[in-house]
Amino acid sequence: MKKVVLVSMVSIFSLIFVTFNFGSENFSHTAKAYSLKGWHWPGNMTYATTSSFIEIDASWIDAVNVWNRRQDHRTINYNANSSNHLTDEYTTSSSRYGVMSTWSTDGEVYRFYGRLNRSMYDIKNNSRVRQSTAIHELGHSLGLGHTSSYAIMNTSRDRRELIEPTFDDLNGMDAIYD
Ligand SMILES: [Zn+2]
Repeated sequence: MKKVVLVSMVSIFSLIFVTFNFGSENFSHTAKAYSLKGWHWPGNMTYATTSSFIEIDASWIDAVNVWNRRQDHRTINYNANSSNHLTDEYTTSSSRYGVMSTWSTDGEVYRFYGRLNRSMYDIKNNSRVRQSTAIHELGHSLGLGHTSSYAIMNTSRDRRELIEPTFDDLNGMDAIYD
């Protein structure tokens, strides 16, 4: 009789264990909400800041430093002669905080050109919004697309609050570069 009870308890324990595994499976699926552009940096890259507005240059440099610190797949280093320019633009728009143009061959990026739109009040006046936008635009050059999850690549994020890549952004980087 005691043996039967023990067997039942083992069965119940197994059931709990299996359920727990299903739970973490589901969690990791919902966490992978990133989308990818289909291109990647073939190796480490260089950049030059070319804006005549010192606060724009500073925000690009901050964004570069954040990406270099938060992931170890690729690094980006300053080089005054780089053809990868990070700069500003003045484009009247109610929604365009910044833009990144990326050129690639067979999925390998050979040039990118990022701009922060200084016609936007918050780009001009808020360093957190500038940094959030610069990190987002660099994310595009690295191969990340837009997502609706809690991520720097979400176009509806609070730009004053979110100024670092999140778990989802870094998962996307792992998917591209691992
Ligand atoms: Zn975007």
